Amino acid sequence: MIAVSLILVHTERFAEHQTPPGHPERPERAEVLDAVAARWRAKGAEVVAPRAATREQLLRVHDADYLRRISETVGRATQLDQDTYTSPESHDIALLAAGACVDAVERVMGSSHRAAYALVRPPGHHAERSRAMGFCLYNNVAVAASHARAIGAAKVAIVDFDVHHGNGTQHIFEHDPHVLYISTHQYPYYPGTGAGDEIGRDAGRGFTVNVPLEVGAVDEDYQLVFKRIIVPVLRQFEPSLLIMSAGFDAHERDPLGGMRLTTPAFEAMTSELRAVADECCRGRVVAAVEGGYDLQALGGSLDASIGALDGDACTARWPSSGIASTRGQAVVADARQILTPYWSM
Ligand SMILES: [Zn+2]
Repeated sequence: MIAVSLILVHTERFAEHQTPPGHPERPERAEVLDAVAARWRAKGAEVVAPRAATREQLLRVHDADYLRRISETVGRATQLDQDTYTSPESHDIALLAAGACVDAVERVMGSSHRAAYALVRPPGHHAERSRAMGFCLYNNVAVAASHARAIGAAKVAIVDFDVHHGNGTQHIFEHDPHVLYISTHQYPYYPGTGAGDEIGRDAGRGFTVNVPLEVGAVDEDYQLVFKRIIVPVLRQFEPSLLIMSAGFDAHERDPLGGMRLTTPAFEAMTSELRAVADECCRGRVVAAVEGGYDLQALGGSLDASIGALDGDACTARWPSSGIASTRGQAVVADARQILTPYWSM
């Protein structure tokens, strides 16, 4: 039996993680998450508050010394790397962000819900096993994927469409053939990783798929790489759960990213991923918010993405920007060369 419903995991406490004035990952982003949660609640969606992630759940992807160092920031404002800060509440709020993703996994793997969207901050995909980085304290999606494996998911696919490469997620799973990591990102760009020839290591070779797009990519470029790379690889991998690292900073309005995606593209990407999940794993999708620094674009694109997971599935409707671009074709040509030993494309 396929569970039909979508659930959102959210708390207004995400505003309590404070960053210095002028920092793009600012508490106002939490107000956007609050408004999105309120809109969907008004439409009848179930919204639940998260529990904090446990030490056991975090230790699957972070080392003990790192957990100790982050826990020492409780009650203090500190700087962890050049752009990652804590305020007195940050540790507790980061535990709730990771815990929201665990909660989302439990609901979907437990079949009480078909899909679950974690509306969280701080984001997670830059956090390494033993290092905070790029606004991220704990790697929310990695904690979620490892929890899914621990409770019985044979294979987990993570698709990360944030404009930045998810270096932390890639590194945490690069040896693991049971967790497929696929990322579309602006390249070259922060954090510097994510070249097409980074394909995983040892037994994990082939299970890291990077789709590095040149700055300025448009809706049609993303449509092409979904059709020619991402969807075919996912179908062959046949995940038991699909997790989205849902960043909205590839939007044309975003002040950090240099891509030109329009709001409907986020609905289309989510629809493509939902279709694969419907085929492979009874529609099981977990999504977690990563970046997205224009407040209007974040709210609109998040609504569009949630909308693609709610109700009946429909075919992805890709917008057409009408802008000529060969960025997608270039990356598809490279990917075919690099990935054909591992996947038929
Ligand atoms: Zn980002």
